[in-house]
Amino acid sequence: MSHRAANNPFNLLGRSLEELREFVQSLGEPTYRADQIYHALYAERRFDVASMTNLPAALRERLARESAITLPQVRRRYESSDGAVRYVLALDAPENAGAPAGKPATVEAVFMPEENRQTICISTQAGCAVDCHFCLTATLGLIRNLTAGDIVGQVLMALHDQRATLKPQTNVVLMGQGEPLLNYDAVTAALRILLDPNGMAITPKHTTLSTSGIIPGIEKLALEKVRPKLAISLNASSNAQRDAIMPINRKYPIEKLLEACARYPLRPWEHLTFEYVLLGGFNDAPEDAARLAKLVAKLRVKVNLIPWNPGDLPYEKPNPARIEEFRRILNEKSIPAFVRYSRGQDVMAACGQLAVLESARNTSGPSLSQISGV
Ligand code: SAH
Ligand code: SF4
Repeated sequence: MSHRAANNPFNLLGRSLEELREFVQSLGEPTYRADQIYHALYAERRFDVASMTNLPAALRERLARESAITLPQVRRRYESSDGAVRYVLALDAPENAGAPAGKPATVEAVFMPEENRQTICISTQAGCAVDCHFCLTATLGLIRNLTAGDIVGQVLMALHDQRATLKPQTNVVLMGQGEPLLNYDAVTAALRILLDPNGMAITPKHTTLSTSGIIPGIEKLALEKVRPKLAISLNASSNAQRDAIMPINRKYPIEKLLEACARYPLRPWEHLTFEYVLLGGFNDAPEDAARLAKLVAKLRVKVNLIPWNPGDLPYEKPNPARIEEFRRILNEKSIPAFVRYSRGQDVMAACGQLAVLESARNTSGPSLSQISGV
């Protein structure tokens, strides 16, 4: 790998320890310098080589010339009345310079403080190609895949921005824009850093990857040494219904998806999560709950019911009595089911609402009233 073309500094962010070792060797430095950089960047969250005081001054100066740490830049910060913060982030890493003209190099992340922990929801692609009809991100189409640095950078940026009030535990959910298993290599490279006890030290139990059900990706993930928990966006109780809202179901239909889930090697502490977006009058009937219960009966699962978050799309919020009835039917069949009200709805930070288009030149960003649905 050629590290340093003229004016093209080597971006340290998103690199594995092996890649950093190769880089420091190319500078004629001993490999343990890479370990020091890795620790300073991911464990100590130092984003400026000048502050990596464990390195000799001469090396710091050289790194300042020949490398970069290109974090996502906060373009806008929207604070919800419930404490959630939605970030609109510009991704300007040098390796992204080839982004298609006119397409925004922005993405979104959401920080959700809780009593003893924080949950950070991050994006894995700008936009999404999967085209679920109830999801605003789908209206963007796929803008581009994020790099491992873009993905890790969202967590680093959010932790840094919120450093004054951080709680001891951090949860990470890959549930922002994009389908993580359609950007497999960058997502798994990022996860290796996020879940590395010597890196960002987030535990696998506190990290969840959510997929629309990309079976080959699920099968690959099953073989990874380091992997997060897995959530599957089922969202329907029959193929006809799923076909109507998730075109991906024609490629990976429910029965095949459930077979892949049955083969998935769960760790002793682990269960699968099935997400089920409740669309009022569409998939929230008691018969749907009964069918869903049958579908998942043989699996070690928990069901998260997500009442649909409005956007400018032709669906309706489910009625609260139907939501409760749906949950009760699942519980009656011994299936753990929880209603997850998304946070940050007033700033369009909730599930399926991440879709702000901002051009790289527009630094002011849209006002809240310009964001559909607010
Ligand atoms: N692409 C991945 C992860 C991002 S979407 C996936 O689809 O799983 C995260 C979750 O939000 C999914 O379960 C999805 O079904 C849900 N979702 C999408 N749009 C929504 C909306 N408008 N209201 C509520 N949940 C939504
Ligand atoms: Fe993509 Fe997930 Fe939205 Fe479907 S629900 S369009 S997979 S982000």
